[in-house]
Amino acid sequence: MNIKRGDNVVMLSGKDRGKKGKVLFAFPGSPLAGGKVVVEGLNLVARHQRAKKQGQKGQVVHKERAVSASAVQLVCKNCGKATRIWHRTVGKNKVRVCKKCGGEI
Ligand SMILES: [Zn+2]
Repeated sequence: MNIKRGDNVVMLSGKDRGKKGKVLFAFPGSPLAGGKVVVEGLNLVARHQRAKKQGQKGQVVHKERAVSASAVQLVCKNCGKATRIWHRTVGKNKVRVCKKCGGEI
């Protein structure tokens, strides 16, 4: 998985296809599982909340749910396009490089 917390991503599938958002949580998991991400404001599900106290009203709250990392694509901060990435080693560090503009992400 090549997406980290704080990245901007675009949804590729589902009802929020084409929408952009910021990654709130990234769960890399095992390489086989592919990992999941939670994107701010996307893939919302309605949770029906009961009244906890007398006189309080129950309400419907919308919360983000994790989506598969393969359902989102990283948005390059240099060229602003949704892109695939590759890795380049700089000294001991691995950096992510945009496939489209070649800039470091
Ligand atoms: Zn780029």
